[in-house]
Amino acid sequence: MIRYALACDAGHDFESWFRDSAAYDEQRAQGFVACPFCGSAKVEKAIMAPRVARTDRDAPALSAPVPAEPASEATVPAVVSEKDRMLRDLVRRVHAHLKDNADYVGPSFADEARRMHEGEAEMRAIWGEATLEEAKALIEDGIEAMPIPALPDDRN
Ligand SMILES: [Zn+2]
Repeated sequence: MIRYALACDAGHDFESWFRDSAAYDEQRAQGFVACPFCGSAKVEKAIMAPRVARTDRDAPALSAPVPAEPASEATVPAVVSEKDRMLRDLVRRVHAHLKDNADYVGPSFADEARRMHEGEAEMRAIWGEATLEEAKALIEDGIEAMPIPALPDDRN
């Protein structure tokens, strides 16, 4: 008996036993050597690969399922990256600068900006809150407004 490693034209590889090499040739010629996966009779002797390259095939088909490790309850400490810290400092400085150099107009920022734009109010630096719609309307009317990120601390 002789064992051949075979491969079909679809790339499946399998093994089959034959009495001898002549028997293999004869059975193959008659189409009796078929791929057990897809039934294709177009099979060739597979190129023999070193055994170590076939560990997937040799791995035990039945293995006890490995219980997943319970998720760790440990909380990951919050890491503030250097970039975050610098951004936070920058925002803090912008806020400080605005407080010193601009009039805080609060939620009426959009109204005040529009009044300044239309000459109804004195032109000056102002800052305050505006809704997204208000900010869009200002920009559409050609009024310069710059969004300033809120301080992270302010959200608390
Ligand atoms: Zn096949």
